[in-house]
Amino acid sequence: MRKPFIGGNWKMNTDSAGAVDLAKGLTQKCDSMLDRVDVAVCPPFVYLAAVREALGSSAIGLGAQDMYFEPKGAFTGEISCQMLKDVGCSYVIIGHSERRHVIGETDELLNKKLIAAIDAGLLPIFCVGELLEQRKAEKTGQVVKEQIEKGMAGISVEKAKTITIAYEPVWAIGTGVNATPGQAQEVHLMIRQLLASMYNDSFAEQLRIQYGGSANAANAAELMAQADVDGLLVGGASLKVNDFAVIVEAAAKAKSQV
Ligand code: PEP
Repeated sequence: MRKPFIGGNWKMNTDSAGAVDLAKGLTQKCDSMLDRVDVAVCPPFVYLAAVREALGSSAIGLGAQDMYFEPKGAFTGEISCQMLKDVGCSYVIIGHSERRHVIGETDELLNKKLIAAIDAGLLPIFCVGELLEQRKAEKTGQVVKEQIEKGMAGISVEKAKTITIAYEPVWAIGTGVNATPGQAQEVHLMIRQLLASMYNDSFAEQLRIQYGGSANAANAAELMAQADVDGLLVGGASLKVNDFAVIVEAAAKAKSQV
């Protein structure tokens, strides 16, 4: 059985005091549920060390929102996997839609990042998802398939086991319009079938697939009730301790009833 996994993507939000408060609040509300659900928070780079300290002995994981694939050198403004590990990160988000569509990251670049993250011992949360016009043109399956095939190209089954995939339809991110549970389940199942064909059935069965896109305290339970939704990647609602704790609880409850 796949342990549910809730990630909080803080994006370019908080300040140093707010990030520490948020992290401390989450330890108080979530620690008792961490035997049933994995939780990670992904603050901005500059607050990673402070959040690591604020998390203390909590099993809430620390993740970064991005990284660069080279280990060190003349790459002004970039952050390496080794640096992330040095400040206590276990996870890294790769290919978030804002990096694909605002910053312009390509499938080829994301493939290099995934390989580097895995080789460095980080656990990647690899984001995929279609634009609204692609969904309207009924190209969701094709777009997500290409993103996964190109992004995971050349990654062995052993290495791919460390990946979590986050299906995040771009039209649902930050809009308040989440995919319906049925829409999420349909794409998650398609992703699992694709992974079975790329790798094998047992790999596909154990890999966790998160849904992301306006997930919140009110809709988390029904999204998590879907058979192939193994967790949520949460943006806006991860900035509020109580909302995020409700989401974590919904995930713990949904899967313990299966
Ligand atoms: C995200 O940032 O990955 C995300 C899903 O954002 P939101 O929950 O705000 O839509």
